[in-house]
Amino acid sequence: MENEILFGKNVLEKLWTYSRLVGRIECYGFLVCPTDSKERVVYDAILAPGQKTSSGSVLVEPDDVARGKAELENMGVKAIGFWHSHGGFNLFHSGTDDKNLDDLVDDLAGNSVVVEQGAMAEGIYIPRKENTVIATINGNSVEINFNTKKFGLSRSYDESWRDGSITYIPATRQLVIAGGGEVMTVEDVGLPIKMAEKSAEAKRGTGYAYSVVVNEEGGDYYAEMAKVDWCYSCGEPKVTRMKKAPIRVVDTVSAVFDDAKILEEIKEKVNRRGLRSLLTQFGT
Ligand SMILES: [Zn+2]
Repeated sequence: MENEILFGKNVLEKLWTYSRLVGRIECYGFLVCPTDSKERVVYDAILAPGQKTSSGSVLVEPDDVARGKAELENMGVKAIGFWHSHGGFNLFHSGTDDKNLDDLVDDLAGNSVVVEQGAMAEGIYIPRKENTVIATINGNSVEINFNTKKFGLSRSYDESWRDGSITYIPATRQLVIAGGGEVMTVEDVGLPIKMAEKSAEAKRGTGYAYSVVVNEEGGDYYAEMAKVDWCYSCGEPKVTRMKKAPIRVVDTVSAVFDDAKILEEIKEKVNRRGLRSLLTQFGT
């Protein structure tokens, strides 16, 4: 369940219909669900507007990306993934596809996450941006920013390193961080180090981002997904990528389409540009 992409009924069939009717060129679109959906189920798929496609790539210009977003808003939906057809090529995730998923993961997962606010656990956290230490002690939380290079804080600690205390000793200009049975002393911490009081509430939750590849042949797919866990203590996202993700069809929702409507949408949104352009934002 956790490692599956969730599709409503007929969404995959709709992707195959798009790719069959577009034919031997690529095309690209969004996987969407209603704006207020608290699930991560794909209700429908649409084509991105203004795409310029060829047999080996799809390009969506920045203006059209904005148009695509506006179109989604007007439809009352949000994107939790994207899909594209490889035309006459095989089903796989290319380097460009990987990069696109990396680039879009925060936006897409942010659309499917159910955010909860929770009390921060007691402890010391060093998030991914390593020049920050967050200490939560006795229900109060303090975020300390400092230049790691300057202060020689080269070790990185993971979230498990959490029970501890943090003390600044003005006389010796030392910052003493104790946690997980270890003590670390940061020498020569001249003020000002920036200390910001954080609310002891943190965002937590898990979001998902999907990428599905189909081709002209239909009947099959290749999919990848990313799971994003926002840290319970500091709100930093942790991204887990999954290759060869299976699609599970849930029968609570269903996409509605027919060939005529899809041909109309293709005519409106897909521009065949041949092999002219070297710009390949969505190359294979
Ligand atoms: Zn591709």
